[in-house]
Amino acid sequence: MNTEQEIKVVDKYSAKNYKPLPVVLCEGNGIWVTDLEGNKYVDMLSGYSSLNHGHRHPKIINALIEQAGKITMTSRAFHNDKMGLFLQKLCDFSGFEKALPMNTGAEAVETAIKAARKWAKVNKNITDSEIIAFNDNFHGRTITAISFSSEKQYRDGFGPYTPGFVLANYGDIAGVEKLINEKTIAIILEPIQGEAGVIVPPKGFLKQVRDLCTKHEILMIIDEVQTGFGRTGKNFCYEHEGIKPDIVVVGKALGGGVYPVSAIICNDRIMSVFKPGDHGSTFGGNPLAAAIGIAALDVLVDEKMVENSAELGEYFLNKLKTIECDAIKEVRGNGLMIGLEIKKEYGGARKYCEALMEKGLLCKETHEQVIRFTPPLIITKQELDDAFNKINEVICEVSKQDK
Ligand code: PLP
Repeated sequence: MNTEQEIKVVDKYSAKNYKPLPVVLCEGNGIWVTDLEGNKYVDMLSGYSSLNHGHRHPKIINALIEQAGKITMTSRAFHNDKMGLFLQKLCDFSGFEKALPMNTGAEAVETAIKAARKWAKVNKNITDSEIIAFNDNFHGRTITAISFSSEKQYRDGFGPYTPGFVLANYGDIAGVEKLINEKTIAIILEPIQGEAGVIVPPKGFLKQVRDLCTKHEILMIIDEVQTGFGRTGKNFCYEHEGIKPDIVVVGKALGGGVYPVSAIICNDRIMSVFKPGDHGSTFGGNPLAAAIGIAALDVLVDEKMVENSAELGEYFLNKLKTIECDAIKEVRGNGLMIGLEIKKEYGGARKYCEALMEKGLLCKETHEQVIRFTPPLIITKQELDDAFNKINEVICEVSKQDK
């Protein structure tokens, strides 16, 4: 099948819950992907930050193949010989005592919420609890995650919703404190709001949330599903403010771009609320996932991808800020997680992404106005320079078309 035929077949048989760019990928290697017509592109989206290691990193693929030749699935009804090392590495990497493996990010978010609620029941005897979340958050698509979304489209038609959440404005610490009452058990937040359009909170905000949680003896749950594993130039984004949350939610890049692997990470005082039978997942912690997770963590550290993200992220951000074009409202981000916002009067970000695709860069609009740049963390300075030249050209050209 060619591109057109493939898209037609998918259109015919699938739900129309996505609006992809009209490109059909059939190969990936490092930062590069190839379409059915043989065109090559730099992947500037990285599977929504799940491909921090690039496509098909040889050590991760080897781990997958080797494990596939032994045993792939046990369920947690039995032990397997990969999970211990995986959990140990994840705890060492993050500096926490315990990890509980799941599969997708949303599932890990649910797990964190369950852990917080159980912790509050066991320790404070609170059952009618409230968790504070933030306007414009994104924590996944499950009923509970959308129950505390402020995005009309994510919620419309999917009620009734899970109760027990209230929303504050992101960055407004006084507003957060006003919402705290005797029912409050936790605050859940992204350290940068990715899906909202790479919204970076005011400097010091995470620390203020940490202090508030400590003062009121409630839990700080930080969702690092998109920002984790080097994306923002630190192992986890919260490290930029020298704090330690109570529960960290991780996913995406933990699976090395080849397999869904997620987890919550916390200390024993919280994790110990889970007793046998309280919570579970058929595939969570399966040996294939664990072997891939081990390789993903090893490769990230051994190949200094976090350092590369910090150094080249700063370089790329500063370079993007030099583009002289009235269409740009703002360029912002941290590490290799960067958003470029187009002023409304210059049209939506989609047409810029389509033009970038024609030039060999795959990006995706985030909401209406933001182009997100989140390349694999293995990208080089030269490759970023090439990408920059194309972005510079496209923004200037497209912004001049029927404004
Ligand atoms: N949390 C955050 C911050 C995310 O960015 C995402 C996905 O983009 C999720 C949770 C949900 O992850 P998943 O799509 O793997 O369920």
